[in-house]
Amino acid sequence: MSTIELIGLGKRYGDFTAVAPTDLRIEQGELVTLLGPSGSGKSTILSMIAGLTAPSEGVVRIGGRDVTHVPPAQRNLGMVFQSYALFPHMSVFDNIAFALSIRGVPKREITTRVDKALAQVRLGGLAQRPPSELSGGQQQRVALARALVFEPEILLLDEPMGALDKNLREQVQLELRQLQRDLGVTTVLVTHDQEEALSLSTRLVVLDKGQVQQVDAPMQAYMRPRNRFVAQFIGTANLFSGELSQRDGVPALRLADGTELACSAAGCAAGPVHVVVRPEHIELLPHESGHGLQAEVVESVYLGQSTKLHLRTGDGVQVIALVQQRQAEALPGNQLRIHWRAEHAWPMPQ
Ligand code: ADP
Repeated sequence: MSTIELIGLGKRYGDFTAVAPTDLRIEQGELVTLLGPSGSGKSTILSMIAGLTAPSEGVVRIGGRDVTHVPPAQRNLGMVFQSYALFPHMSVFDNIAFALSIRGVPKREITTRVDKALAQVRLGGLAQRPPSELSGGQQQRVALARALVFEPEILLLDEPMGALDKNLREQVQLELRQLQRDLGVTTVLVTHDQEEALSLSTRLVVLDKGQVQQVDAPMQAYMRPRNRFVAQFIGTANLFSGELSQRDGVPALRLADGTELACSAAGCAAGPVHVVVRPEHIELLPHESGHGLQAEVVESVYLGQSTKLHLRTGDGVQVIALVQQRQAEALPGNQLRIHWRAEHAWPMPQ
């Protein structure tokens, strides 16, 4: 079990910076997700931790040991990739045993270690099956067992759920989280799926264009994004732009037309800001109330547990609200007012 430290770790291809110099410390037992759009540098960072890509600058330490120039096989890590091709003609057991046997590990030890890995991923009863007789989720667990059989210090997962359909993904995510917690193995996961990142991670590293935008616990990144990119990349963001002002110590967002709206002051100085309000924090008030911001209902979509309202303010800002019940006034064409509690409006510098 180990920490992972990246110190000024960067990668350039010619003039192009794939990963700007990055500092990051991952504590023992954490599951940290690298999250960002395609091309943001996630796989490059993972690949530099693995030793498959040589960094242009900086240092990688695993368990306090400088491994920057250590070949992948000597870094004591387990890896699972999206294309975790299993050998179709070999049993589950042999798939997991293969890498041990080509390394000359004695037969008896192989059996012990494979059995242990199979038990960890709860596939003990299926050792003799060929992969074709396993579900997608079970195949994914075989791939994980193949990594765990080396008793790695750290686990690197690159879009490991990429090949699974949505329902199965959720189940496998839950299993992975439990297994990772039980084993306490320090894990780095790459995904472009924000729900997966939010549900699995102890912390997120949000990347854009090779630059780290924010490193935080999922709830912090969602509720308190550092900038507009993070706000829009994680979840649905309603953004309002204006001036953050303080009058008598009470912060307010002043829109271009002079309207003042409640907002939180934490983490931001007075001046031009974007304020993010999440859809579940938009409250609806009757038009006559005169409070908040006037908006027209554009569309109302019933989702079972909640109703999603698409609204447009007088300034033409599109707003999405998630309300628990179907509200009579929330019909397309109706005018109402939207409102939020100050602590749910999070300002970010423009
Ligand atoms: P992600 O995993 O977030 O999709 P990558 O880490 O794969 O992003 O890539 C980051 C950037 O580096 C991309 O713009 C990609 O095109 C570029 N890149 C990756 N590998 C190479 C390479 N071998 N040569 C040149 N550019 C590369």
